[in-house]
Amino acid sequence: MTPAELIETALRENLRIRPQERATAALKAGHPIPLSGGEAAYASQIVLDALAGAGLVVVPTELLEALTDRDECWFDHHGGCQAHGFLSLEPGERCPQAEAQEMLAALPERTDRA
Ligand SMILES: [Zn+2]
Repeated sequence: MTPAELIETALRENLRIRPQERATAALKAGHPIPLSGGEAAYASQIVLDALAGAGLVVVPTELLEALTDRDECWFDHHGGCQAHGFLSLEPGERCPQAEAQEMLAALPERTDRA
């Protein structure tokens, strides 16, 4: 299950909006459902709990960038990544540094940087 699917499932199964008529009217009008402060906070907790339950955490991009080596992997004849010291990779297992590089590359362009 992808993180997006995990979040969608958690909200579908747990988020309750009262009164229901408010949500239905907003959807019929093509508007986002306005959440009260309490509902929004509850939705946030549902999402964080679902992610934590799946072993996922939200990490600031700057932290991931700081922890990720820009060098490319290079593999020995046993399949271990010599560049990053992951020497015991099993067949099909990927170097965590390569996975982190891909995550950073997949991020949308940020607009909050100079
Ligand atoms: Zn590597």
